[in-house]
Amino acid sequence: MCFYDQQIFVCGDHKWGRFRAHCNKEYRTGETCGMKLIFEASRVASKCQMCKKYEVTWRKIAQAKERVARWEAEGINPVSTDKEKVNIVAWQKELKEIEMQRQSRMRTV
Ligand SMILES: [Zn+2]
Repeated sequence: MCFYDQQIFVCGDHKWGRFRAHCNKEYRTGETCGMKLIFEASRVASKCQMCKKYEVTWRKIAQAKERVARWEAEGINPVSTDKEKVNIVAWQKELKEIEMQRQSRMRTV
């Protein structure tokens, strides 16, 4: 068990920061063990990278879907429509990956 700074974001997620101190057990070896303990926690007035990325991607999907719906209704831009649909699928995959990361993170906390 070693001590680290921790940043807590408004979304409730946290990020480990600087290494601060060894625990007694690891002190002799000079190595850090896998277990992290909070040395000092600070609150950050923003969302974490993961949630920010999630929001940005989510917005991109919403906008792309809107465009596709409009193009299809007007019967224009078939090539762009196909391209945009491919993008949407890729972005949705990204969202799923972020969600999975978030869930696996929660389990380890
Ligand atoms: Zn977050």
